[in-house]
Amino acid sequence: MSKPYVGRFAPSPTGPLHAGSLVAALASWLDARAHGGRWLVRIEDVDAPRCVSGADEVILGQLAICGLLPDEVPVYQSRRGEAYQDALDRLHKLGLTYACGCTRRAIEEALVQLGILHERFEERVYPGTCRQGLHGKQPRATRVLTVCGGIEAVITWTDRRLGKQRQNVAREVGDFVVHRADGLWAYQLAVVVDDAWQGITDVVRGEDLADNTARQIHLQRLLGLAVPRYLHTPLVLGADGHKLSKQNGATAFDAGEPMVALQAAATTLGLPRLEAGSVSQWLAAAVQAWHARWVA
Ligand code: GLU
Repeated sequence: MSKPYVGRFAPSPTGPLHAGSLVAALASWLDARAHGGRWLVRIEDVDAPRCVSGADEVILGQLAICGLLPDEVPVYQSRRGEAYQDALDRLHKLGLTYACGCTRRAIEEALVQLGILHERFEERVYPGTCRQGLHGKQPRATRVLTVCGGIEAVITWTDRRLGKQRQNVAREVGDFVVHRADGLWAYQLAVVVDDAWQGITDVVRGEDLADNTARQIHLQRLLGLAVPRYLHTPLVLGADGHKLSKQNGATAFDAGEPMVALQAAATTLGLPRLEAGSVSQWLAAAVQAWHARWVA
């Protein structure tokens, strides 16, 4: 028997929800409701320097105005440090992590020397410089191995919307950071530990995060954790054609007109225009439409 559905919305409190982040919030809520499951909210405030004080309350208030109410008190990642440390210790005991002394600059120089630095890659593939030791450098970050026993981590999974996916994490990402040089926990580790701890069966989130999924499944396997199902939702694009974000002018959606904001999000999700007299009626109709599209 499959486990009872548990979904989540996991915003980083870097500002209010905008039209793009509302799409992920609505989709994750609809999917949980359409499965008769529970829906949790997790405030992902591990990256403290990027967090804006009070943004968590603003986000929770915006969700409430849209009728998107979590089934449990929201969890804050800033209070979960011990759990992340436990996971790191487990990886360490299994011999799967190592200290890295490379600065960003050193990684670029190593890639240039290897002749594999391509400017078009935003994220650099880590060439494994410190895998055999620090060679006198000071330890900075902690990385997890993506080649284990000589075998490259090639991860395949099926996204409910995007279909079959495959990533050779060793070649396309390299050994990645699980504990940052600035002492903060890396998103990849925190999200995997918390999804497992909260019993999340289904991750529904924006397509910009699809590329992280293979890294997360790799960590789930190394830590012996269940792998949830994934559904990555379409992005809302800004005027510059890139994903809507604060950098290209995303502003908070108009909380005075929640149904307008919800309908815009639903349209991005490919749902039809829904007529309703109230937010709760609108949501009930949206659950039906979502069920027909993604569950039935
Ligand atoms: N906190 C991440 C973000 O706001 C989302 C993480 C996730 O859904 O896995 O972009």
